[in-house]
Amino acid sequence: MQSNNQVLAAEADCLPTSSRIKYFDMVLDHGQGAILVDVEGHEYIDLLASASSANTGHAHPKVVQAIQQQAAKLIHFTPAYYANEVTASLLNRLAALAPGDFPKKVAFGTSGSDANDAMIKYSRAYTGRHYIISFTGAYHGSTYGAISLSGVSLNMARKIGPLLPDIIKMPFPDPHLKLAGESEAAFVDRMWQMFMLPFENWLPVEEVAGILIEPIQGDGGLVATPHAYMDKLYQFTRAHNIVFAVDEINQGFGRSGKMWSIDHYQIAPDLMSIGKSLASGMPISALIGRKEILDSLDAPAHLFTTSGNPVCAAAAHATLDVIEAEHLVERSAKLGQMASTFFTRMQQKFSFVGAVRMFGLNGGIDIVDQDGQADVDATTEIIYHLFKAGVIMISLRGNILRFQPPLVISETQLETAFQRIEAVFEAKAKNQL
Ligand code: PLP
Repeated sequence: MQSNNQVLAAEADCLPTSSRIKYFDMVLDHGQGAILVDVEGHEYIDLLASASSANTGHAHPKVVQAIQQQAAKLIHFTPAYYANEVTASLLNRLAALAPGDFPKKVAFGTSGSDANDAMIKYSRAYTGRHYIISFTGAYHGSTYGAISLSGVSLNMARKIGPLLPDIIKMPFPDPHLKLAGESEAAFVDRMWQMFMLPFENWLPVEEVAGILIEPIQGDGGLVATPHAYMDKLYQFTRAHNIVFAVDEINQGFGRSGKMWSIDHYQIAPDLMSIGKSLASGMPISALIGRKEILDSLDAPAHLFTTSGNPVCAAAAHATLDVIEAEHLVERSAKLGQMASTFFTRMQQKFSFVGAVRMFGLNGGIDIVDQDGQADVDATTEIIYHLFKAGVIMISLRGNILRFQPPLVISETQLETAFQRIEAVFEAKAKNQL
């Protein structure tokens, strides 16, 4: 077997710079539950869950079995011409799982990005309007449509323009934008005034087709939309017949302590995009929404040869079975409390631990300097030393530690991860990193 370095050197010749955000000099061999093992046999506790696509953990036996059985039966036949039973039954299951007591339909794709492209297509087709609104700080993927919707990284939009026209990014009501001493109500009012400004100047509201929001922004730093702001936004869409869409690709399937992050707001969206943990990381995504919206396009306007792949659909059924049988949504909420207690204690103990935001097993921990400003170098250092100590974490926005383990992580594994994090924090406090 090759070493980590040998594999990385071979890969470096052919992998384009666009394809990897380099963090770790590590080559994965296998995973089990919340543990990852590299080709040299080193074990790591996974606090990234494959970017939230491994909520059921790595190689869950029920998911593996479903994949093997379906692969032996039918790997694929293009959905353009024939149905298959496992994919058809998944359609019904997902329609029933999505919030909203109204008839729904489901359009499959193969990535979160294409599910968000579908949001643009269906919103425009259904309303006959062209503007789409999304938010700064949002990550919606890397197809042209999804990059056009995203507002989180300059590198995404560089060198590839022009992006899709008529996608307007409004300022997200991120708590980091709150002024010193500003109340929550005053903050929401100020952010809402900023939202309304374009409509008073140049943006005709009757030409807005849809609004897409991540109720809790993931890559944007684990920042939640204030409830009062979400209410205003939703009411605005009702008043102006605008499609209200949510991106649950990162936060769905229990990540936030509820099945969907929009459940925290008790709103049933017109459209909802899902992917990632839908099939424990197998490449399948979907846009779920009101029947009349999903019936507004003709084939093949949103159709891929491999969409609704039966092996992925079987993995999705097994994933949903595991989420139900192992009460992973409740588990996320419960273990999230443990994590919240731990990181709040870290905040009290170490001055470089700033704000802590935790929603289920899903958190953002700001790392700051003496002046309370973002400390990117310290964050990078912490992540590197966590990796050396056998804990996989990444940063968001340069200085936010992202905490999102598989929801099946055991309490013991979580405690071990916390001990290792505290040890690295101690070393940082003593300038010993
Ligand atoms: N939307 C959100 C909220 C995401 O976090 C991501 C991926 O990180 C996407 C969309 C894009 O999904 P994919 O990478 O499967 O295209």
